[in-house]
Amino acid sequence: MNILVLNAGSSSLKFQIIATDLDRIRQDADARLLRGEVDRIGGEAVVTFQKGDGPKQKLTASLRDISAALDYVIRWIASPDSGISEIQSVSDIHAVGHRVVHGGELFTDSAIITDEVVKGIENCIDLAPLHNPTNLRGIRAVRDLLGHQMPQVAVFDTAFHHSLPVHAYLYAIPYHLYLRYRIRRYGFHGISHRYVAYRYRTLRNLERDQANLVSLHLGNGCSAAAIRAGVSLDTSMGMTPLEGLVMGTRSGDVDPAVLSLIASKEGLSLHEVESMLNKQSGLLGISGLTNDMRTLQGELTEHDDRRARLAIEIFCYRARKYIGAYLAAMGGADAIVFTGGIGENSPEIRRRICEGLEWAGLSLDENKNQQAVGREEVVTKEGSRLAVYVIPTDEELLIARDTARCILGEPNPS
Ligand code: ADP
Repeated sequence: MNILVLNAGSSSLKFQIIATDLDRIRQDADARLLRGEVDRIGGEAVVTFQKGDGPKQKLTASLRDISAALDYVIRWIASPDSGISEIQSVSDIHAVGHRVVHGGELFTDSAIITDEVVKGIENCIDLAPLHNPTNLRGIRAVRDLLGHQMPQVAVFDTAFHHSLPVHAYLYAIPYHLYLRYRIRRYGFHGISHRYVAYRYRTLRNLERDQANLVSLHLGNGCSAAAIRAGVSLDTSMGMTPLEGLVMGTRSGDVDPAVLSLIASKEGLSLHEVESMLNKQSGLLGISGLTNDMRTLQGELTEHDDRRARLAIEIFCYRARKYIGAYLAAMGGADAIVFTGGIGENSPEIRRRICEGLEWAGLSLDENKNQQAVGREEVVTKEGSRLAVYVIPTDEELLIARDTARCILGEPNPS
């Protein structure tokens, strides 16, 4: 099956076409036919296509919304210009898989999109007012362009964390607020944490229930997950993706009393303060320079910038603190897995985070760590009781596989 994987954001649309089916999944023989992105939707959009591992092709087009962007992408894919031999016309796209950010308590697994599922995603809008409406626009655009008969599947970023026990997901606030508004920890990046947990157990030849790891997804957004016996036991993001680790522009954990103090001193509404914690904090807020870790590391090496150093130190300290907390929560683990743009590509950040974890049995191999950039690798010394893995994430592959499994009626094994 040729599956179109979509990740619809507020002004961008990421897409891939992945050929997969139950045989290909079993043999780990899925094929990525195309990947691409539409940026700056709403104006003069930039569309990038990359066929297989070939060169990137850039086009510009005036695209007013997601529907126009999707129309453009689908026409290009089905045209001879794309040169994808597997897709001669639109009918060679067999299903569409969507990344949907918030599934609330309703969706504990990926789901074939029906009117009822659409209603369920709508019911979660309160919990993800920025993300779920854009995801729904993507779903509706597919219905409009490819018809109701095109099978669509929703893969939720929250679903992997549905296994959190009540003591991990409930906040210590009046209980009726949970009952009334479902205020609780949901966790995000679930597709990524689930993917690296699956790769980890494949690399180690383990059964699912033997996989005990702390997974760190460090990208623009950052989160940690405690995965015991293959299921998520705790995670650092909360009701929204704002809680937990220090991120590119998000603060992660702060004392909630800080909000009203900032509001009164700076003359801002609570909504504006929340936006400050989401968009002007984290690495950007501390450094005053950038939300981009690579640039920050450059500033530190070239100019010994004090605030760049502070931002990096606080980022790494917070991550290490969560590792310690999760090792305690899980009663120990066998591995830490790094993923996401920073986790996959920055040996220096991995080294700083792992520093001082020798007490937990972690013995980093400096050479292996330096060499592991953007590929699967163990970076601890042989015999290290707590192993460290670098595993590049592949959320699109997991979405494509879930889509195939849902449509072909096979339960999701990973
Ligand atoms: P997103 O969360 O938006 O998917 P990514 O996972 O691509 O983002 O992560 C982006 C982050 O990864 C940025 O802070 C970027 O600087 C960082 N990053 C990418 N490559 C490197 C590198 N070689 N060294 C340090 N940081 C890197």
